[in-house]
Amino acid sequence: MLNTLRSIVQDVAGAGSFREQLNLLVHDVRVALGTEVCSIYLMSSSREELLLAANEGFKPEAVGSVSLSLDQGLVGLVAQRAEPINLNNAGMHPRFILIPEIGEEAFHAFLGVPVIDHRQVLGVLVVQQRERRKFDESEEAFLVTLSAQLAGIIAHAEATGDVASLIADSGESALERADAIFRGVGGTPGIGKGTAVLIHPPASLEAVSDKVTDDVSTELQVLDRAIESVREDIRRISQQFSSSLPREELALFDVYLHMLDDNALAGDIRDRVRKGSWAQGALKQVIHEHVRRFEAMEDPYIRERGADVKDLGLRVLGYLQDIRAKKTYFPDATILVGEEVTPGMLAEVPADRLRGIVSVRGSVNSHLAILAQSLDIPAVMGAIDFPAANVDGIPLVVDGFYGEVICNPSTATIEHYETLMAGERALAEELDQLRDYKCVTLDGWRVGLWVNIGLTGVGRSLDRGAEGIGLFRTEIPFMTKDRFPSEEEQRVIYREHMVAFEPKPVTMRTLDVGGDKALSYFPISEENPFLGWRGIRVTLDHPEIFMVQARAMLKANAGLKGDLRIMLPMITSISEVEEAMSLVERAYQEVLEEGVEVKQPQIGVMVEVPAAVYQAKRLASMVDFLAVGSNDLTQYMLAVDRNNPRVADLYHETHPAVLTALRDVAKAAQTENTYLGICGELAGNAVGAVLLMAMGYRVLSMNETSLPKVKWVLRNVKRSDARRMLARVLRMDTHEEVQAFMHQQLIRAGLGRVLPSHH
Ligand code: PEP
Ligand code: MG
Repeated sequence: MLNTLRSIVQDVAGAGSFREQLNLLVHDVRVALGTEVCSIYLMSSSREELLLAANEGFKPEAVGSVSLSLDQGLVGLVAQRAEPINLNNAGMHPRFILIPEIGEEAFHAFLGVPVIDHRQVLGVLVVQQRERRKFDESEEAFLVTLSAQLAGIIAHAEATGDVASLIADSGESALERADAIFRGVGGTPGIGKGTAVLIHPPASLEAVSDKVTDDVSTELQVLDRAIESVREDIRRISQQFSSSLPREELALFDVYLHMLDDNALAGDIRDRVRKGSWAQGALKQVIHEHVRRFEAMEDPYIRERGADVKDLGLRVLGYLQDIRAKKTYFPDATILVGEEVTPGMLAEVPADRLRGIVSVRGSVNSHLAILAQSLDIPAVMGAIDFPAANVDGIPLVVDGFYGEVICNPSTATIEHYETLMAGERALAEELDQLRDYKCVTLDGWRVGLWVNIGLTGVGRSLDRGAEGIGLFRTEIPFMTKDRFPSEEEQRVIYREHMVAFEPKPVTMRTLDVGGDKALSYFPISEENPFLGWRGIRVTLDHPEIFMVQARAMLKANAGLKGDLRIMLPMITSISEVEEAMSLVERAYQEVLEEGVEVKQPQIGVMVEVPAAVYQAKRLASMVDFLAVGSNDLTQYMLAVDRNNPRVADLYHETHPAVLTALRDVAKAAQTENTYLGICGELAGNAVGAVLLMAMGYRVLSMNETSLPKVKWVLRNVKRSDARRMLARVLRMDTHEEVQAFMHQQLIRAGLGRVLPSHH
C-alpha cells in the first residue's frame, strides 16, 4: 500500500494542470482500491457547497454539474463531520441520496474521506461500488493518508485561484485573476510595487552536449578569454556596489573571484579540456559536479552556495557561446523575479529602479537575502509556488513584511498598499524629526534605544538616533567569508563600528553559529540544530575561535571612549558563564601583555533559553548586564521553530508565558541591580516596547527601522499607565487577548498609527 500511495502522490504532483491532477487522482485511486467509482468534490469559496470536480465511473457530464450543499447526501455529511464515513450499504443511511441523471446507480459500498488542510475541509474524496463491500481498516487508512497528502496540493490550488476557476470552469489561469497571492518568506521587510522582470540565467548548461576536441590549445584559449571576461564583469559589478554596500557584503564578490581561480573551478575545467573535451562540455561537467556536491549537503547555507557556482558557470558559458546576456529592459519600478535570483543578477538592475525581489528558491540565509537587506529592497524568498516563468511584465506587489507576492493587484489592493506605503513614508519623515530627542516617557522614565547590527551599515543607525549597539551579530561577517576571519580582519570590522559609535556603548556578541546560521567552511549537520551545537556551546568547545574573537574585540576598542560590552549567546548553565568569563579574562591579559592598552570589557549574558530565566538572579549576580533574546526565548518556551512556516501562527512573543518570563527576568535583574536590556524583535514593536518599558527594561535594542517608531510611542505614554496595562496583561490567558487589549489601549492613546494595520 505504501508504494501505491507514494506512486499516486508522485503521479499527481507531476501532472500538468490542476484539472489533470484531479483526473489522475480519481483514476489512480479507483484502480488501487478496485472500485467502480471514484470522485473528488471541492468546497466552493462560500464554503456552502461541494462541487463534483473530477470523477471516474459516472457520466462524463457529471463533472462540473453536480453540486451538493453541506446538508445534502453522504458527501455533505463527510464534510460536515470532517470525518470518514465507511458503509457497506449506503442506501440504508438516512442521508443517502441518489442522482440518477449522472449515472449514479444504487451503489451500495461507500467510503468518503474529508480533505483537510489547516483544520479546514477543502473537499471530499469518495469511492463507491454496486456490490456491497465494507472497506477494511487498511483501505480506509490508505484513503485518509492519501487525502492528507493531497490536501497541500488542493490548498495551493485554492491559493492560486485554480479551485475557483475550475469550479467556475472559466479556464482562466491563476495569473489572469486579480490579486492572486503567493507565499514565501519575508527576506527584507517593506513593500514594493512595480512590474515583474523575469531574469533568466544567460545560457543553459543542460543544453550543452559532450564533444571531443582535437584542438586543445584553441579550446584552452577560448576558455581563458571567457573566464577573464567574467572576472572583469564581477569586478565591475563589485565596483558598482562599492559605495552602497558594507565591506563584508562586498567580500561576496571576492568569493566569486576565488571560485574562478586555477585551484578551484578553472583548474578543473582546464584539466578536462587537456584530456580532450571541448571547453563548453568541460565547463558543464565541472559545474554540475560541484553543484551536485553542494546540493547534497544538509546544511541549507552550504546548499545555497551551489547556486553561486551555477551562476558563475552560466556566465562563463555565455561568453563561450558568445551570447552576452541579452540586454534586459528594466522599467522604472522593477520587481526582479526568477527561479533563483543571484547577487549577480541583482547587480544588473540599476539601483534606482529596483523596487522588490521575488525568488522562487533561496531562503533568508542566501547571499541574495543578505544583500537585499543591506540595500533595503523588499524581498520575498522561497516562494516555491510562484510561477516565475509566466509573470514577466505582470504588475506585482511584494510584501516583504509577510512574505507575500500579489500578482495583478486590483485597484483596491493597489490603493491599500499605496496607502500603507504612503503612511510608512509620512510616518518615517515625521519621526525623523525625533532624532535628537531622548526617549523619555511623559512622566520622565528614561529608556535607552539601541540598534541591532549585522547586515546594515552603521550610518543609517546613527541617523535614526541610535544610542548604542545592543547586539552586533558577529556571525554575519563570518558568513560572508570562505574561512574564519583572522584576528586582525575581525579587529578591523569591529573597530569600524566602535569608532562610528564612539563614545556610545557597543555590545559585541560572541559567535552565535549553529541553529539556522551556518558557516560554509564550518559545516554542522544535525537532526535538530536549534537544540544542538549552537552559540556558546560551539565556541566553548573551540576556545581558539573564542579567544581570537575576544582579543579582536578588546583590541578594536583600544583608545576609544565607548564601553565595550561582550555578550554571550545561548547560555544554559552557570558553568558556561564561568568558563567564558575566564576565557575573556585570559584574552584581556594576553592583549595587555602584547602591550596594547585596553579597558576591561563589561560582560553580559543573553537570556534566551528557559533555563536562564529560572537562573536569572544567579546569572545577574555574576555579570554586568543581562539581555533577553526574545526571538529564541519565544521559540524555546513555546517549542515553535522560529523558521518553520508551518508553525508560524503559533509563534507569539506576547504569549502570556513569554510575558511572565520576561517580567521574572526583569525582577531578578532589579534584585541584583544588574543592567537589563532586550534585543529580540519584540523590542522593536509598539506593544512589546510599552510592556517592556513597564517591566523595567532599561535598553531596547532593535533594527534601526523600528527605532523612531518606538521612540515616538514611548515619548507619548506615561510609565504609570503602561504599568497599569502590564498588570492587566499579566492576568490574561491568551496572546490574542493581550494583543486586542494593547491595541485598544494604544489606539485610545492616539498611537494607532504604528500598529501593523495591514494583515
Ligand atoms: C534573539 O534570539 O532574540 C536574538 C536577539 O538573537 P538572534 O535573533 O540573533 O538569535
Ligand atoms: Mg538568539
